[in-house]
Amino acid sequence: MLPETPWTTEFSRSFRSLGDLYGYLGWELKQELNEVARTYPLFIPRRLAQKIKDQGPEGALAREFMPDGLELDEVLNQNGMKDPIGDKAYNMAPQLIHRYPSRALFTATNICPVHCRYCFRKNELNAQDELFQKEFSETLSYIEKHPEITEIIFTGGDPFTLSNEKLKKYLDSFASLSQIKDIRFHTRYPVIFPERIDAGLLELLTVFSKKFRTISIAIHTNHLSEFDSDSEAAIKSLSQTPVQLLSQTVLLKGVNDTSQDLLNLINHFIELKIRPYYLHHPDPVKGGMHFYLPLQTGRKIYASLRKELPGWALPHYVIDVPGGHGKIPAFNPETTDYSGQLLTMNGEITSYPENI
Ligand code: SF4
Repeated sequence: MLPETPWTTEFSRSFRSLGDLYGYLGWELKQELNEVARTYPLFIPRRLAQKIKDQGPEGALAREFMPDGLELDEVLNQNGMKDPIGDKAYNMAPQLIHRYPSRALFTATNICPVHCRYCFRKNELNAQDELFQKEFSETLSYIEKHPEITEIIFTGGDPFTLSNEKLKKYLDSFASLSQIKDIRFHTRYPVIFPERIDAGLLELLTVFSKKFRTISIAIHTNHLSEFDSDSEAAIKSLSQTPVQLLSQTVLLKGVNDTSQDLLNLINHFIELKIRPYYLHHPDPVKGGMHFYLPLQTGRKIYASLRKELPGWALPHYVIDVPGGHGKIPAFNPETTDYSGQLLTMNGEITSYPENI
């Protein structure tokens, strides 16, 4: 059972300095990591640090969350991009990315409960970045001028970093626009920082479920070892509200790049009543190229998942093609093979750069 203290107390105890973190882990701190952490700051909650310690420096969790000298390796990162999915071209109003007609991403905050070393926004997660400039009245007025927008997707950063009061204010504003039918949150909190799933948040989600057609929570997690009994209890509480729980996983070299790793994770989703939703091919992000694997490798892993899982348990394997094609299926068995060819949303064949 989680203690009845505000989640922010635990948040403030998270590790932000290499010295404190390595002291806690009892691991040798290599000098090169100082420059890595200056470029890409670290943030690791205490419960995750304990799991990293238990698993050891070669474990999947250390790979996902611990600073790594490879982040600054110039040769490895030479094809990495600062904005690999091209969001900035669709930043149409403050904190709003409008790429697909019916839905808009609302970058509610740049703060996360953990810094994932593979993050596709790792070069942008600072308050000065244009994606996080705030002027909410302009955001609302843009949405009103675009009645085709029916779903708001809270992203970031991580939207559950906002207080319940702030979330309520935003939800009230979106509920006042009759065009907005659906709300979605993309978050890492339920698994990595379950303290955040407090009574106030559960109440808020329940109340607003009556004001929107659907509220969905896409839970971001990549490896079974990220879970513990508190995160499972938090997800169980969420599953007892009217919200729909979805999964969101990034395929990452050295973390979950075997079909068995993914099967373990997906079976756990099913036990926790989370609908398998997205498996993302990794984005070629500058500073995260050590997680990158070729499309052909991903397709082979996915092909074996297709043999093991029924259709309803199979997440969509998707890829954001650099160059503005948006998120498209990474596996089209009818039209492509294991090569780098992809079918775009317009039905055109495009090729994914194989030299990344
Ligand atoms: S929680 Fe999401 S936005 Fe934040 S660092 Fe991790 S992947 Fe990036």
